[in-house]
Amino acid sequence: MSTAHLLERRQAILGRNAPLFYEQPLHVVRGEGVWLYGADGRRYLDAYNNVAHVGHSHPRVVEAIAAQARTLNTSTRYLHETIVDYAERLAATFGPGSDMMVMFCCSGSEANELALRIVRECSGRRGVISTAHSYHGNTAAVSQVSSILSRTHGPEVRRIPVIDPYRDGSGPVSLLDRYCTDMAATIDGFAQDGQGLAGLLLCTGLSSEGLPEQPAGYMKRAAEMVRAAGGYFIADEVQGGFGRFGSHFWGHQVQGAQPDIVTLGKPMGNGHPLAAVIARRELVERFTELNPMYFNTFAGNPVSCAAGMAVLDVIEDEGLVAHAQATGELILAGLRDLASRHTLIGDVRGQGMFFAVELVEDRETKAPAGAAAKAVINRMAEAGVLISRIGPFDNVLKIRPPLPFDRTHAAQLLETLDQVLATVAA
Ligand code: PMP
Repeated sequence: MSTAHLLERRQAILGRNAPLFYEQPLHVVRGEGVWLYGADGRRYLDAYNNVAHVGHSHPRVVEAIAAQARTLNTSTRYLHETIVDYAERLAATFGPGSDMMVMFCCSGSEANELALRIVRECSGRRGVISTAHSYHGNTAAVSQVSSILSRTHGPEVRRIPVIDPYRDGSGPVSLLDRYCTDMAATIDGFAQDGQGLAGLLLCTGLSSEGLPEQPAGYMKRAAEMVRAAGGYFIADEVQGGFGRFGSHFWGHQVQGAQPDIVTLGKPMGNGHPLAAVIARRELVERFTELNPMYFNTFAGNPVSCAAGMAVLDVIEDEGLVAHAQATGELILAGLRDLASRHTLIGDVRGQGMFFAVELVEDRETKAPAGAAAKAVINRMAEAGVLISRIGPFDNVLKIRPPLPFDRTHAAQLLETLDQVLATVAA
């Protein structure tokens, strides 16, 4: 089957709003570790996929799925040890004394949908604060808080801009003060218009915003303000969770913030559709009083839980969190070195195995170089290295490899980026 013919058939049946990466869409046939293999016979270094968190087709995850599928797969309406074992193990990652409960879902969107229901029903209020350029999923309620998807929204949602120290050089203290002033005004706004504040939803990496570096303690302050006003803080760990930031297992821990609810997805099953809401016991119990039944046919079935358990095993046994930290430091240093030689790079930021390289036409004006970013990711793919771009101006290179990415992969990524940047003009 030729790639051109497959593309034609795909567009005819899936439509044009099902996006594909790259100008020359990649027709992939196999994945292994940090590599994707194309129908063209080439292999591509995957520096972008956080779903294949422990590596594409990791043998232990594949075997866990196959073994459980061979034995039994059914819903959570039956008692099954693996489901309980996995939920307990997952809850334990939030630290002793956190007393969190687990509700399984099948996608990050579903997890955020359930989280919104919980904060709204438990608070008896409707207002939810999200950020000005975020993505949290695609259900009717969640798309309202996903500013990338819906530019307009109802009165139940208010969005506030994130702190952007690169574009606004006022300094961390005054930026944080301004952010807290915005937060207070937004909370007041909800009180005045009668919605009341139900909660705040934040992606712990601010990944859609392009990973702007936040002043220390910003998330903790925001969560405290929200709780003081009777709302709840939802930490969306769909992108940042499971050790991606290297220093901690969860993104909110990096920030020293204590969430009331955490939502999980993408890396949780290494590609198997597994997601969850992790919430304080008191909230789940209150929600249960209001809704005696939460049932989700596919969510948290024994095969999904076996996949999730294998992911946790691999992260632990292969020391992937510490590895993300060490390799991440190397990559960050390499990206900073590229910035010293390529004026197209305005800023480099990141932590663990998650990086943003912001491209600008001019370092003085910081005019976003969106077209250059597009050219870079396409030429990188042609050169065999996969990355993408994000941010309000689509000018931020987003680099987010599977965690086993090692020094040799880092060297290939940096060398290729160096060569490609030399060919792209601002
Ligand atoms: N939250 C965040 C931060 C995400 O990045 C995404 C997916 N890009 C979602 C939620 C939604 O997850 P899903 O696509 O599994 O519904």
